[in-house]
Amino acid sequence: MLRCDSGNERYGALEGKRVHTEILVIGGGLIGCAVARELSRLAVDITLIERTEDVAEGASKANSGIVHAGFDAKPGSLKAKYNVEGNRRFAAYCQEVHAPYVPSGAMVLAFDQEQRQHLESLLSQGIQNGVEGLRIIENAEILALEPNTNPAVQCALLAPSSGLASPYELTCALADHAAVNGVRFLFDTQAIRLQKRENGFLVTTNHGEITATILVNCAGLFSAELHNQISTHKLSIMPRKGEYYLLDHEEKPVFSRTMFQTPTKMGKGVLVSPTGHKTMLLGPTAQQVEDALDVATTAEALASIREKAAMTWPHMSLRTNITTFAGIRAHEAGDDFIVGATMDAPGAYEAIGIESPGLTAAPAIANALYTQIAQEHSYACKQAWKPAPDLPKAFSAMNLEERAQAYARDPAYGNIVCRCEQVTEAEIRSAIHRPVGARHVDGIKRRTRAGMGRCQGGFCSPRVMEILAEELQIPMLEITKFGGQSRMLTDSLNPSIKEDKGHV
Ligand SMILES: Cc1cc2nc3c(=O)[nH]c(=O)nc-3n(C[C@H](O)[C@H](O)[C@H](O)COP(=O)(O)OP(=O)(O)OC[C@H]3O[C@@H](n4cnc5c(N)ncnc54)[C@H](O)[C@@H]3O)c2cc1C
Repeated sequence: MLRCDSGNERYGALEGKRVHTEILVIGGGLIGCAVARELSRLAVDITLIERTEDVAEGASKANSGIVHAGFDAKPGSLKAKYNVEGNRRFAAYCQEVHAPYVPSGAMVLAFDQEQRQHLESLLSQGIQNGVEGLRIIENAEILALEPNTNPAVQCALLAPSSGLASPYELTCALADHAAVNGVRFLFDTQAIRLQKRENGFLVTTNHGEITATILVNCAGLFSAELHNQISTHKLSIMPRKGEYYLLDHEEKPVFSRTMFQTPTKMGKGVLVSPTGHKTMLLGPTAQQVEDALDVATTAEALASIREKAAMTWPHMSLRTNITTFAGIRAHEAGDDFIVGATMDAPGAYEAIGIESPGLTAAPAIANALYTQIAQEHSYACKQAWKPAPDLPKAFSAMNLEERAQAYARDPAYGNIVCRCEQVTEAEIRSAIHRPVGARHVDGIKRRTRAGMGRCQGGFCSPRVMEILAEELQIPMLEITKFGGQSRMLTDSLNPSIKEDKGHV
């Protein structure tokens, strides 16, 4: 039996052994962490394995971050059901785990008669799905609400219930909450082979074997591959890349709502949207790709974003562009979410094909899987389910008095490490000691925003690396950007450091 002595293990407990856990969650993205957090209400032993070295390393770190209203999913589909339910729960859900959420609203723009008709069908679809507050507004109202919109716009579908989330901060917060309630996280642990056994499953990983009574497959882009090992009903994921421009934050972003264009059959089209951190996103594209791990951006896709975004925002300026990035959608051939028990594999459950609106749907998907597993296996609930751990208020959001108090409590608040995002040494140290703490430079970035800003870590990375090395008590040469071989330093010029493999 695996014991839960820490929320944040690498594979140490597993190396070369066979261990048992009652419930095994595969995948530490938003869905896996949301499911693990829900299941942690049960008085059973739960383990989550993740292929990479942190949570939120897949689609959950690279998406639009929009909490969709729910008008564009086909009525009757699981996407529609979980989108609308997730949207209703979202604000309270983020509050429970102390993750940011901004109720911003959204518009879908139409520039001609054909697009207007499309908006009318989206409106009636939204009403069928149970989305509240939808209405079509005309040119004058659009420009009054969002003055930077292209004046050639004819009409728009206004969706007040849309919002802005921070998908990676939410994933980290859910992981922390699961961990304080006993879920063990094993990183750098990839499920390679799933086999059915008489009373459960045998999972072969890159570091050892795990037997489990219940499996929950939340492996994103690789979920169908795992599913197909234990089910005769075959599934297939077709990876779809989405590329973005990210613009630096402004006191007042150019748009206060998410501005969509009329969707196409490949997706919701290019949006221009503020984020919860007042930066701006332009994108995404939608391209079928062979390699599910290829997150390189391409000149062609970025050019098409520029062209399409200019239709929404004619005075578009990329002067404040700070980075470009891509995420990969796990599009399932059947074009819907697959959530529930795995066909002909009793004891296995899954969340497959969780592309957009998967972020929005996460609270509802996690609740559905939890309810089904708890009922079908008559697990008792814990006597006490601990609340999510508090997160310290960001220094950048503090007023002067709060800053003085923080400094008095911990002088490390007096050292600004990331100048662009005003992140202090105290916050970086504390991110490493969260229940599922940061283990590499990107992990710090997602938990504190150090490196998220204008210089993209150009100034703060060396100091972040030093703090990681100190807190984790590992040599600087071993610090990585995102785990594996992504070392920040290749070698040292100082021979004594090379010999010691000590701090540079
Ligand atoms: C470009 C883009 C834009 C999007 N925009 C939105 C949006 O605005 N709003 C919205 O609601 N949704 C949006 N989504 C969808 C949303 O991002 C996803 O639905 C959500 O992040 C899926 O989470 P996940 O946990 O299923 O997948 P992931 O985050 O990919 O997590 C799966 C995890 O499983 C791990 N894993 C895989 N195989 C194994 C294995 N064999 N063993 C162990 N671990 C394994 C992976 O490393 C990964 O960490 C968007 C997605 C993309 C790509």
